[in-house]
Amino acid sequence: MAARLFLRSAFRAAKTCRAAPAPALSRGMAAGGIPTDEEQATGMEKIIMTALKDGKDPYSMLKPKEYAGSKEDPHVVPSITSQRIVGCVCEEDNTAVVWFWLHEGEAQRCPSCGSHYKMVSHELPH
Ligand SMILES: [Zn+2]
Repeated sequence: MAARLFLRSAFRAAKTCRAAPAPALSRGMAAGGIPTDEEQATGMEKIIMTALKDGKDPYSMLKPKEYAGSKEDPHVVPSITSQRIVGCVCEEDNTAVVWFWLHEGEAQRCPSCGSHYKMVSHELPH
């Protein structure tokens, strides 16, 4: 009984007194709120966030693009040196990987399935 009376009076009190409008929430550091990821990132994290905004993927963090593997559309393999070891899963269900060296220059073919691979130079941003 007492609880019901308390609830009723609390409901009336809430109905009659109007609360001041709440100020708009702001996360920005300039507004004194919690800084966003862009505002608090420094160093390598900031470099990566800036590059991703520009549509670049300097550390190959995103899913690689798919290529047909033909002579006209070879698989592009980025490398920071003049050669790189490539593993080709020739068919989707294969359990063995065919490994071979890919060198700078013309596109090379997988010795097993014949897919074309082309190495492109890739520079890390630091
Ligand atoms: Zn292959």
